[in-house]
Amino acid sequence: MITTKSTEDFARMRHAGGVVARIHEVVHEAAQPGVSLLELDSLAAEVIAEGECTPNFLNYHGFPGNICLSVDNQIVHGIPSKRPLKEGDVLSLDAGAIYDGWHADAAITFGIGEVSPEASLLIEVTEKAMWAGIEMSRPGSRLGDIGHAISQVAEPHGYGVVREYTGHGIGLQMHEDPQVLNYGNPGKGMKLKVGMAICIEPMFNLGTHETRVLADNWTVVTADGAISAHFEHTVAITPNGPEVLTVPGGA
Ligand code: MG
Repeated sequence: MITTKSTEDFARMRHAGGVVARIHEVVHEAAQPGVSLLELDSLAAEVIAEGECTPNFLNYHGFPGNICLSVDNQIVHGIPSKRPLKEGDVLSLDAGAIYDGWHADAAITFGIGEVSPEASLLIEVTEKAMWAGIEMSRPGSRLGDIGHAISQVAEPHGYGVVREYTGHGIGLQMHEDPQVLNYGNPGKGMKLKVGMAICIEPMFNLGTHETRVLADNWTVVTADGAISAHFEHTVAITPNGPEVLTVPGGA
């Protein structure tokens, strides 16, 4: 079901989104060589509590962390562990928060210290693709316009565009309809309307788009072991176009 949000609903999501932006800021700054993923998870929990929110990832279908931390060939849903970060790691941080019942969800990828030029370009291009998708997130656009805009950014680089994991609607649930694919045909698919909220989240791989899930039943990795990047924002569809809710200042 696709729900229409009111101005008040968006205000609550904006608060949650501000807290998610703060998690990104705090975790990014703390993510240095020698720091463990579990330490970063604890920092995120503190930020969520300070922001008067609750974590939406913790216990989601049994997920054992406050945030998802995925390193190098891990695409999404990495479990915070005792693993220490090291120079050259590519870290994807996916975080969410709930404020007064309303959800926000956003992800960033960054290097720990110096990363390879290939990884650096992958990160840059994946973020650019997210913004291309956000730009299309306006009343009257169709889901195919968003997916097409995203995949077009990957194409000249030959990156694998992950298909099994996608963007989604968001509101009183973290994952609502519609599914927002990272590929598609312009002019096709559902038309966006004012009051919708969607998560735009491309995941690009340096190699194949194919994925597999590790034995922990959570961590999604690239089938060929190549590095992956992930960016995501929660976006409100407003009469004036897209409003990104997962930015500082909302909380
Ligand atoms: Mg999401």
